[in-house]
Amino acid sequence: MAATIIDGKAFAARLRARIGEQVTSLRRDHGLVPGLAVVLVGEDPASQVYVRSKGKQTIEAGMKSFEHRLPVETSETQLLALIEKLNADPEVHGILVQLPLPPHVNADLVINAIDPAKDVDGFHISNVGLLGTGQKAMVPCTPLGCLMMLRDHHGSLSGMEAVVLGRSNIVGKPMAQLLLGDSCTVTIAHSRTRDLPAVCRRADILVAAVGRPEMISGDWVKPGATVIDVGINRIERDGKTRLVGDVDFDSVAAVAGAITPVPGGVGPMTIACLLANTLTAACRANGLAEPEGLTA
Ligand code: NDP
Repeated sequence: MAATIIDGKAFAARLRARIGEQVTSLRRDHGLVPGLAVVLVGEDPASQVYVRSKGKQTIEAGMKSFEHRLPVETSETQLLALIEKLNADPEVHGILVQLPLPPHVNADLVINAIDPAKDVDGFHISNVGLLGTGQKAMVPCTPLGCLMMLRDHHGSLSGMEAVVLGRSNIVGKPMAQLLLGDSCTVTIAHSRTRDLPAVCRRADILVAAVGRPEMISGDWVKPGATVIDVGINRIERDGKTRLVGDVDFDSVAAVAGAITPVPGGVGPMTIACLLANTLTAACRANGLAEPEGLTA
């Protein structure tokens, strides 16, 4: 294996420790404790795991965690009323509505009801617009985590050829915007892209966010490229359930210069960036200087 492993788990632990120190200073110097409200509607098992983990890490960072678990039959009106209450609550600096929402709720309507300054997921249409126009935004956590790892590994990304595989609103598109913001030459590929392997082989930086287990193999990757694997896929292998990425790790690691593993790559960075965004939101709400290096 040739590639350097980019250890997202260790990076995220360092980031959380740094955030914890900043939170301690905020509390000591300004009497301010950042607060994150997480709203979960229904009992989707994966969402419950994510929400539990978010709450635990929020408290470990010294922040306040407010969990709102609502029954699956909660109406859109009830959910909007809760968002309005959280928007007005000065102890709440970040609001996250766990997706997916049940089908009878219009997710866009709910997300766009969140105060953009508290939208720590960065999905509100205002934040999407701010990011797209290169202004100060709340940046979606998963792409922000990818960007932090890339900057840490490469220093400047300027002039690099980046290919983002996937065009979702939560990963692919904001990832592409962030890479463009760092002066990469960016291609966004998707299910209609012609000759995907050839497009991927152009990349100095390849970000895979497709949700297809081990789709990208070594012969799709330029020797020495940096490969960021966002995919989280559960598969059955050798009678066991395993977590794999969108990248065929062994064949790609033999060609790439650097690679994020699954698990232990992008995943841990996502929650760490949620804490980073909550801290940033708390500082902005109180007119305090934002800690450096926590946003794009
Ligand atoms: P979506 O399903 O919303 O988007 C997938 C994208 O991949 C689409 O743009 C789709 O193209 C494209 N795609 C699908 N199949 C192919 C194919 N065969 N060839 C080329 N392109 C294809 O997924 P998300 O962006 O939400 O998530 C992507 C992956 O990242 C998932 O595995 C998800 O679990 C994971 N994820 C991980 C996170 C983390 O914290 N590590 C956070 C969020 C997501 P088209 O638009 O044309 O349909």
